[in-house]
Amino acid sequence: MSASSASFSTFTAFSALAPYGWDEDWADAFAPYTAEGLLPGRVVRVDRGQCDVVTADGTVRADTAFVTPHDPMRVLCTGDWAVVEPGGTPRYVRAYLPRRTAFVRSTSSKRSEGQILAANVDHAVVAVSAGVELDLGRIERFLALAWESGAQPVVVLTKADLVPEPATLGHLVQDVETAAPGVPVLTVSAERGDGLDVLAAVLGTGTSVLLGQSGAGKSTLANALLGADVMDVQAVRDIDGKGRHTTTTRNLLALPGGGVLIDTPGLRGVGLWDAGTGVGQVFAEIEELAEECRFHDCGHESEPGCAVRAALEAGELPERRLESYRKLQRENQYIVAKTDARLRQELRKEWKRRGAAGKAAMEAKRGRYS
Ligand code: GDP
Ligand code: ZN
Repeated sequence: MSASSASFSTFTAFSALAPYGWDEDWADAFAPYTAEGLLPGRVVRVDRGQCDVVTADGTVRADTAFVTPHDPMRVLCTGDWAVVEPGGTPRYVRAYLPRRTAFVRSTSSKRSEGQILAANVDHAVVAVSAGVELDLGRIERFLALAWESGAQPVVVLTKADLVPEPATLGHLVQDVETAAPGVPVLTVSAERGDGLDVLAAVLGTGTSVLLGQSGAGKSTLANALLGADVMDVQAVRDIDGKGRHTTTTRNLLALPGGGVLIDTPGLRGVGLWDAGTGVGQVFAEIEELAEECRFHDCGHESEPGCAVRAALEAGELPERRLESYRKLQRENQYIVAKTDARLRQELRKEWKRRGAAGKAAMEAKRGRYS
């Protein structure tokens, strides 16, 4: 049997998992475990040594003792593809498939180890309220975080109904676009239902997370995408469900229009950590200009032959952009200095391929305008 037909049969055997993101590449990665009778499944929740895994036979509870190593970056998390035993008490997760992407939070502890928040995320939706003054610096920060994870960012201007003038909304979109090269910017109103179909289509393949400031409309958007108050409905069921709330809440849900949504409490309050690559991608035009500077280590202050300052003086680069870039760089360097270099290096390796793909897409997009 050829390798491709082997993986095709593995894919088919567990095709019930397709709504959870099961594809032929996951089937390929899982194929070596089939001989042992093990099952693939997507982790929908992890807590205190246990996890809930969606398998082709339904959701099962499994013990994570084998996938809880000392290294916090290697601990099983929501979004992982787990390899679970077919039964047993307890039933164990034996391993998980290599991650495509990962959202990581730097911890504030002295040990400064990262914490995995979500794995295998394809789209990072940055929710921004159209109803309050835009804070481009904050948007840039979320974008840096998204790029660094390996996911493709999408900015969604929410509450579009609060901006009655279409022209005004158009200006807001343009403003966000200047801060977000290579990133689609959509507008939605969960209130009116506007733009939800486009967003649902964008998220229709792959796994998404919702990022953004509190009050940006993430929960409302999640419920609109899910087509029901699933989050609330679950909470209610949990309360009257014999106090089993820790075992019934799902942090990963299949969207009715296709795709998967991950919504974990940890992701909601995520901050900036080692996002060196991400910062570079958010400020791609500045990094490009910097390559033209006479000195490699140009600080873009008063050095001769500085292309960044030249663009600034020519009015081609807004002063705010450069300030924001400097601020994020400083902040990032501070966090980097606190973070274990080895972990960073490992992450870099894993995400290099994705980063390169994102950059290529961005360059292709920019190429269209020049
Ligand atoms: P989260 O903190 O990001 O999850 O934000 P929420 O989803 O809780 O929304 C914050 C507030 O914005 C709530 O009062 C919502 O009712 C309101 N909101 C959310 N979406 C819309 C919308 O499309 N239009 C309007 N006018 N208000 C909205
Ligand atoms: Zn310079």
